[in-house]
Order: sequence, then C-alpha cells, then structure tokens
Amino acid sequence: MDVDSLDPSLGVCEKDVKALEFIQEMTLNCDSVQEKVLEEILIQNAKTEYFGRYALDGATDRLTFKSKIPVVTYEDLEPDIKRIANGDKSHIFSTKPISEFLTSSGTSAGERKLMPTIHDELDRRTKLYSLLMPVMNLYVPGLDEGKALHFLFVKKSAKTPGGLLARPVLTSYYNSEHFKNRSFDPYMVYTSPTEAILLTDSYQSMYTQMLCGLYQQKEVLRLGAIFASGLLRAIRFLQLNWEDLAHDIATGTLNPKITDPSVRKCILNKLPYVKPNPTLAEFITAECSKSSWEGIITRIWPNTKYLDVIITGAMAQYIPTLDYYSGGLPLPSTMYASSECYFGLNLKPMSKPSDVSYTIMPNMAYFEFLPHDPAGSSETCPPSQLVDLANVEVGKMYELVITTYSGLNRYQVGDVLEVTGFHNSAPQFRFIRRKNVLLSIDSDKTDEAELQNGIDNASKLLSEFDTGVVEYTSYADTKTIPGHYVIYWELLVKDPSNPPTHDVLNQCCLAIEESLNSVYRYARACDNSIAPLEIRIVKNGTFEELMDYAISRGASINQYKVPRCVNFTPIMELLDSRVLSTHFSPALPHWTPVRKQ
Ligand code: AMP
Repeated sequence: MDVDSLDPSLGVCEKDVKALEFIQEMTLNCDSVQEKVLEEILIQNAKTEYFGRYALDGATDRLTFKSKIPVVTYEDLEPDIKRIANGDKSHIFSTKPISEFLTSSGTSAGERKLMPTIHDELDRRTKLYSLLMPVMNLYVPGLDEGKALHFLFVKKSAKTPGGLLARPVLTSYYNSEHFKNRSFDPYMVYTSPTEAILLTDSYQSMYTQMLCGLYQQKEVLRLGAIFASGLLRAIRFLQLNWEDLAHDIATGTLNPKITDPSVRKCILNKLPYVKPNPTLAEFITAECSKSSWEGIITRIWPNTKYLDVIITGAMAQYIPTLDYYSGGLPLPSTMYASSECYFGLNLKPMSKPSDVSYTIMPNMAYFEFLPHDPAGSSETCPPSQLVDLANVEVGKMYELVITTYSGLNRYQVGDVLEVTGFHNSAPQFRFIRRKNVLLSIDSDKTDEAELQNGIDNASKLLSEFDTGVVEYTSYADTKTIPGHYVIYWELLVKDPSNPPTHDVLNQCCLAIEESLNSVYRYARACDNSIAPLEIRIVKNGTFEELMDYAISRGASINQYKVPRCVNFTPIMELLDSRVLSTHFSPALPHWTPVRKQ
C-alpha cells in the first residue's frame, strides 16, 4: 500500500484517510494551491511597510509580485528584524502581530538568525505534523499498539530588548498548547512525560527520558530524536549512565542528581510503572556491560520497528553508526523543515537513505526555485526567472526561496535541492546540502570564512615562536560520540630550537573554538553535543602531496585549491599517516545568552 491507496477497507482509519486525502488534494493541485497561497499572503500583508517600500500597491498576482519584490537573504532583512527585536510593533513584514522570534541554527555575524513568526504559523506546522503518522501507518502496521521513545528537548528562551521571546522552533512548539494539550492519539504516545521534555537542563531531561524509555522498553515500537546526531547522543548517554539508571530501576528510586521538583514529582508519584524492578535492572546491566554495543538498540528495545530520525544532508555521516547500534533498522527521514517554515514530508518513508525525497506541501508557503549553478554563479539569475514549484524540472538543482505568511518575502533559505520526481503535480526533492557549510556535527553550521577567522586568531598565538600556518584543512570527525572538528595544520617553524609548545597548540584549539559562531559554542559549552576541537600537526610537505594526489586524479594544476574540508578516505589516510602530534582544546569556549549585537 502507498499514499495513493486510500481504500478504507485496506485498514486505513478514517482520520488517516482524511490526512491522506488532504495530501492528494494539495499535490494534485500544486500550482493552483500555490497561486491561492500567494494571493492570501499578499492580501494579508498588503498594508505592510515592506510591500509599501516596493510599491506593490495591493497587487496579488505572481507576475507583479515577481517583478517588484526582490530576492533577499537574512542580511538584507536584518535592519528591519532588529527594529522588531527592539520593540517596533508597526507592520513591517506582517499585519498580524509578531508572536515571537524563532532562532535558527543558521547564523549571521556569528549569532543565531532571528526569524519573526506569527501565531497562525503554529497551526500550519501542527497540520504538517498531523500528516506524518498517517503516511507512516501505510508502511508500518500496528504502531498504535505501542509507544515512541523520542528524545525531545527544549532550550532556554531568551527575550529581545523589545520583550519578544526568542527560542528554537521546537522549544516553541513543545511549549505550545498544541503540544502540551494535544488530544490523545494512539499513534502518538510517547514514553517521555511532557514534564521531562520541557526541562531545559539537558542532563536531567535526557536522564529522565531515558529512564522512562527503559522502564517501558517492551512497549517501544519506534525510537528517535529529531536528527541522527541526537539519537547517538542518547546512546552515548546510556553508555555513561546505565549503572545509575539500572540502580534507579532496581530500587524504584530517582537519582538525586535529578533535582527539578516537577519532574521528580511526576516520575515518583504519577507514573505507575516506576517501582522496583530488579529483573529489568539485571537485564539492562547484563546488556550494557557486554564489551560490544553492536545492536544495543534492538537488544534493549526489542520491538523497535524503525529509527525515527533525519538522516539526510549533514546527518548522512551518522548512518553507519546508527546501523551498527540498531542492526540496520529502517531510517525513515519523515520531514523537511526549518525555523522559517515547515516545508514538506517524505511520502515513501521506508526508502533507502540515499533515495529519500521530500514532497514540499504547496499549502505551507509560496515556493520559488533559483536554478543552482554548482560553480556558484546562481546569484546572477534575474529574479523574474525564478521557477515556480510546479515547474521545476527533474534532475535539476535549485536553491529554495520562500514567501511565508509570517512576512518573509522571496527569502533565500540557503538549501540546495535536486528534483527527483513528482507526486501528482507536486515535485519531490532530494536534500543536497546547505550552501556554504563546511563543517557540521549537530545543528552547528560552520562556513569557510568562520573557519579562516578561527585559524587567523589561533595563528596569533604562534607568533612568539616565529611560526606560521602554511596550510590547513578540516574534517568533521563523527567516529566518536559526540563528534568533533579536526583541523590539520602544516606549520613553518622558523627557529627549530623554539617550536610552539604542546600547551600553546592546545590553546590554539581553544582560540579557534572561541572564534566560531554562537551555535557551535552553545553546542560545546551547554549542550555537550560537540567534543573538544582537535588540531593535528602534519609533516612539512603534506599539503604538496595532497595536491599531487589531486592532480593524479585529474585536477588542473592551475586551478588547484587546497580543499578547506576533506572527507574522502584516501585523502584522510594520507593526512593521518603524516601526523606528528595531536592537540585538543583544554577548556570550554565562552557562551552567554546575550547576543553580541
Ligand atoms: P533551523 O532553521 O535551525 O531549523 O534549520 C533548518 C535547516 O536544517 C534547513 O534549512 C536544512 O538546511 C536543515 N534540515 C532540516 N530538515 C532537514 C532534512 N530533512 N534533511 C536535511 N536537512 C534538513
């Protein structure tokens, strides 16, 4: 059965039929839905300062919109966004009040981007969530007979000078009535109590979610987190904490490190299964103390049918590790979304990771596509030549441009997508990559300029040793959990009797970390989702060998540039075979919730 099979006699429940019919209706009428969405947005926001600035004069048709409204990036909008953050309540982007800012993991000038949003957007996001399980139910039967162990987390919210909340989109969603007071749905029963999910202390939240997941291990039918890196972090947490968890289960008590009163009360007084269970504790102890953790997920949670995590884009690097821990369970990446807008879903969730495509739902926003030139000259495409959702061509790559109900107009998201086919008249896209991202472990996204700045700052520490960095490249090492950035350095030590000390090279690691953006520093300092940065000093001449290797494989000697990030195995092997010494950041980089600007 697949999404086209809506015959209720095939076991599809009435609620699911409605959701699947909605998907059919939207995708059959992709272009007309898009036309209507744009018209609605332009009517809703007709009296905004932004449209006034470009003399849109109440027009609601695509042609006028495209001819008058420019394609923009976050940096173009930043002055207006700052006004809103500082308390300007005039209708700059939207005639509906800005309800809060969603903080994106993308950064601008080293700080998280602030995305203004309106209350209605929550309904649109909830609608997209409501489509996920009906699709999944077509492929995996019986998910209503058990629970989901989903590691879901919130972060601390900040306030802008004007008093608006600024927080990640999922923190906003989990704190909303839409999530907290959701009606009972047998397909969406989580093992984690809401009190545990809403704890901002990530240790206490992870501990209590893991504890509840272990108590209910037989009931768990799917295990997940938002991104693959999050699920692996949970497995690492279990490796480090299983003795404490087993002790709690054996005795029916709760580790005193869990101090939050509401979650203590919930775990100890409200959950009937929290009571001494020595048999389960012994089982967990036996499994976790085995020397190999291969297949640990299915050993502890034997009824798991799939891992509910996103494994496309930067997360693809985690697929082998997930396979190792789960014995190769299916990895359906169910949706594609961002702080700016939720885009779409995967209609064939059981497909192989390399075949995952997302169908953008035409009701979510007005979507346009900038033809993507891998050589990087896409910016020159005239705004009038952006392609509409229904008109993209299979096999071509595009950058996503969105116009949202919240008031982003022709906004470049920064994602590069490739069209793989169509579902009815709606195109399906493979996520290719995020533009300009060199390194990523978790939600961090580090670009070439940021890395270069980090190298420049660290190099200053070498000047007293009359030493300079001749060449460098980088690598996101995800073999350990959490993963970490590795920087390969070739040095020119002018006075061999006074080379940089081990301690100074360690400090160089920290200097690079201090120069990276706030999402990276938060992940290091607060989230423990990235391990200390490492510098590997390589022998002199290594980068020349790297060039020789590239030329032997057909690179042009005139055009050769040192790749600033590597992940091709022979190159990694070459670099690693030339390593003279390794150095790690000795401390956590600085992070505060106060924005620099
Ligand atoms: P944020 O604004 O922090 O929520 O991050 C949104 C970005 O995460 C998107 O623009 C994508 O680059 C990335 N992303 C979200 N969903 C997926 C997915 N299913 N596959 C690959 N990348 C994704």
